[in-house]
Amino acid sequence: MIFNQISDMINMGLVVLDEDLKVHFWNRWMALHSGIDSEEIVGQSLFDFFPNLNEPKFLRNCRAVFTFGNFAFFSQKLHRYLFPFRPAYSDKARFDYMQQSCTMGPIRDEDKSVRYIFLSVNDVTEVVNYEEQLIEMNQKDALTGIYNRRFFGQKLQEEFVRSRRHNRPLSLIMIDIDHFKQVNDNHGHQVGDEALKAFSARVKDRIRKTDILARYGGEEFACLLPETSGSSALRLAEVLRRIVAEENWVCRDVSLRMTISIGIAEGHPEIADGEALLKKADDALYEAKAGRNRAILYD
Ligand code: GH3
Ligand code: MG
Ligand code: MG
Repeated sequence: MIFNQISDMINMGLVVLDEDLKVHFWNRWMALHSGIDSEEIVGQSLFDFFPNLNEPKFLRNCRAVFTFGNFAFFSQKLHRYLFPFRPAYSDKARFDYMQQSCTMGPIRDEDKSVRYIFLSVNDVTEVVNYEEQLIEMNQKDALTGIYNRRFFGQKLQEEFVRSRRHNRPLSLIMIDIDHFKQVNDNHGHQVGDEALKAFSARVKDRIRKTDILARYGGEEFACLLPETSGSSALRLAEVLRRIVAEENWVCRDVSLRMTISIGIAEGHPEIADGEALLKKADDALYEAKAGRNRAILYD
């Protein structure tokens, strides 16, 4: 009686399964989110309604609860969800399904033998949503949406170590937009902002998924190119340099031209670490700046 009222009110899913994995109990929360009433599902196999759960890992866990009486956890990190429920409206942007943290455990009768297993289902969508937002904010530049300098620094160290360990090439390019101050001076800061966004999007389109593009400073960008030799990086840089110079950039109805200068460095054996690689690319950029609208490979 009391249990029924509590289970109806509680803000989590509660399911009890018998030894044949037929539903013995299904609380109101489960009914609300699944659209399946208790009367409909009790006595039926859980898998008739949720065939996605009919898989080895879930079955193994059920068996372990009956055999050993232990608990099993289905974390959101690992499983995302057990029951494919719709998320609440506000969470829809990021997730197709409600993110769940689930626990499974034994229910024993008087002689202590496990007669049933229970499953509790917690909706953690909002928390995970918030967590992912925070992670993203921490890694990305607010204006352009590409990675920020801090994240780039981390990746640079990681990729450098990896390239050394596996003896694979790694290149880095630094890009600086030429005379960008004039864009602001001539058209205003908002046009300048739009230009930075459009530029970032264009470069991102041109690189591989595995390349790491970041806004390194105001109108300075860095791109890490794993598995790429200096000469290939130079070829990419030349393509970027050309497409930027040839494009008629239209930002807030203002049409403008831009050029970029690029410095490139490859992780040769004498380069000690990521920092040193960055320094070489920066030196090459400095050289490129002497003429502007140029790409120079450090050697
Ligand atoms: P150079 O060819 O020597 O690189 O000339 P430059 O004008 O690009 O270089 P400088 O470093 O003197 O100026 C960079 C300019 O970039 C100055 C600043 O107003 C602009 N800038 C930096 N960050 C932003 C931003 O977030 N938005 C806008 N609109 N402008 C920015
Ligand atoms: Mg600059
Ligand atoms: Mg500049």
